[in-house]
Amino acid sequence: MSAGVAGRDAAVIVVGGGHAGVEAALAAARLGVTTILVSGDPSRIATLACNPSIGGSAKGQLVREIDALGGAMGRLIDETSLHARFLNESKGPSVRALRALADKPAYSRAAQARLESQANLRIVAAMAEDLIVEGGRVRGVITGDGAVLEAPNVVLATGTFLGGKTFRGDEVKAEGRFGEAPAVGLSAALARLGFPLGRLKTGTPPRVDRTSIDLGAMSEQRPSQIPLPFSFTGPARFAGPQLSCWIVLTNERTHELVRSNLSRSPLYGLDLIRGIGPRYCPSIEDKVVKFAHNPTHQIFIEPEGWDEPTFYVGGFSTSLPAEVQLAMLRTLPGCGDVRMLRAGYAVEYDFVTPTELDASLETRRVGGLFHCGQLNGTSGYEEAAAQGLVAGINAARRARGEEAFRLGRETSYIGTMIDDLVTKGVDEPYRMLTSRAEHRVILRHDNADLRLTPVGREVGLVGDNDFADFCRRRDALIAALDLAGRTRIGEVTVGGAQMTAGSTLADALRRPELTFADIADRFPANVSAAIGERVHIEISMQGYVRRAELAIAQSAGDETKLIPPDFAYALLRQLSGEGREKLERVRPRTIGAAARIPGVTPADVAVLRVLVHRGRHPVPA
Ligand SMILES: Cc1cc2nc3c(=O)[nH]c(=O)nc-3n(C[C@H](O)[C@H](O)[C@H](O)COP(=O)(O)OP(=O)(O)OC[C@H]3O[C@@H](n4cnc5c(N)ncnc54)[C@H](O)[C@@H]3O)c2cc1C
Repeated sequence: MSAGVAGRDAAVIVVGGGHAGVEAALAAARLGVTTILVSGDPSRIATLACNPSIGGSAKGQLVREIDALGGAMGRLIDETSLHARFLNESKGPSVRALRALADKPAYSRAAQARLESQANLRIVAAMAEDLIVEGGRVRGVITGDGAVLEAPNVVLATGTFLGGKTFRGDEVKAEGRFGEAPAVGLSAALARLGFPLGRLKTGTPPRVDRTSIDLGAMSEQRPSQIPLPFSFTGPARFAGPQLSCWIVLTNERTHELVRSNLSRSPLYGLDLIRGIGPRYCPSIEDKVVKFAHNPTHQIFIEPEGWDEPTFYVGGFSTSLPAEVQLAMLRTLPGCGDVRMLRAGYAVEYDFVTPTELDASLETRRVGGLFHCGQLNGTSGYEEAAAQGLVAGINAARRARGEEAFRLGRETSYIGTMIDDLVTKGVDEPYRMLTSRAEHRVILRHDNADLRLTPVGREVGLVGDNDFADFCRRRDALIAALDLAGRTRIGEVTVGGAQMTAGSTLADALRRPELTFADIADRFPANVSAAIGERVHIEISMQGYVRRAELAIAQSAGDETKLIPPDFAYALLRQLSGEGREKLERVRPRTIGAAARIPGVTPADVAVLRVLVHRGRHPVPA
């Protein structure tokens, strides 16, 4: 049932139909509140603006978590995947991840079809240029053509469009993305409201005609032959034919062209770009200058669709003039006669300091206003989608008068990312990494459903069929784990490993040299290979997980100890100067969050603990 608000256009307005906006709009509408998605050009909804891939290290975990909670990204990529691979298979389960390339137009169409068929959701083609705010609460947005759309909850998911400028050589254009107008008014509106804005930058490589390169001169990277769905309820078959990717190396000629043209680079010689770029996705200019000792860099040649004429040149992001880009491409093996169909470029845009947000992604400055995606200083489709899901859920909950929904660091990568953003802020584009998740032995790709599907069910985004499916999977896993612990195999040799007297199936699975396949015949026939693989992971990780759970339990007190929102840190002389300033700015919800703010010392935390514990904190005069 819809919970629209009388006299208003909707209960929730989502601004921006990128990866964050799609999840936010679908979540809010699916939770039963009337929702409007305002997007500049609806035919460009869910555009994969740069690389054609979803997932990868840590990002794959985010997609799995989105899926487990009832979000859309996992299913969208499963419907359109043309090259799936499991990464880090030879490494521990906590760093394994799935990555898949999408057919780009099909991905975008699949997202649009989902939005169009969603009840409670209307798409409006317009640019939001201003916010209506009264008495510290948002009331709606004003579009570029002066139309007023009213709603008490607004989710901003504007990506790289705020004050967007694109660069290629000395060409500078006001654009949010190639050929798309920027959002100019919104930046001014946010600044007027007192939000601190910064500038970041990212870039994309050229696209080349797939028929103009000699793949025989490149190393082939084959996709998996076994279907690898992201979604826990994903299809058992590939969406279409699986295509190979190709790898080449740059060489001294490529690097020399970069060096001799640096004077024409908007990043270097021309000094036009001030925004900070992504550390983990540097441009080829940055690679050649900052990693000058590397004689080669790996370049990935990836198809952008089953029928698309283009290959994406991964790792070759550049904003040098188009003719230099073409010359550089022609130095690569197999690319002597390459045709460039679209030149690379850089984009610089405004972001809003995410320490302005609560972990629900609502801003503290303006009630009912939520920020998600690249606007919060993150980089990447998955990071954006994960935040969009949380913001959409919370906008709907606020519309229904319900408590905010927050995820913790101990339950998810999503919670880890949001906690990092709202407590530490960003000074460069934030990308999710496994190293950012201190609880990564628990937050694995394989168990995202166990961690989060019950949460998604409670929130209201996991439907009856999907939940019944989850319960069957969970029960089968529990039964198989129990069986493995109880079933003795005795003094036998399995798969070359000598088991001692009294050994169980679980003991065998703890042996690093054995896999589930080695002892599958000792399990009943109803234990599938998929469940068997999960049993193996659960058993081999038991020791690490126990230690991690102990550490979480030890710090649990701090994580649940709420700091009163009116705590006047500025009045507390016992705090260090930097700690006082950071605490006043970030206003953490819990002692645990306070402890993670860079600049807040253990002594500061001890002072907070005592005052919060005694219920005696300074309040503003
Ligand atoms: C050139 C380029 C290179 C990139 N390179 C990389 C990379 O190498 N690695 C990486 O991880 N990520 C990269 N990205 C970033 C990736 O595209 C984003 O992280 C991701 O798409 C962010 O999702 P989002 O939902 O926040 O915003 P976006 O996907 O940017 O979507 C924003 C949407 O909002 C709409 N919109 C914006 N403002 C308004 C408004 N005022 N009113 C109405 N609609 C509005 C736009 O039309 C668009 O549909 C790149 C992006 C670009 C443009």
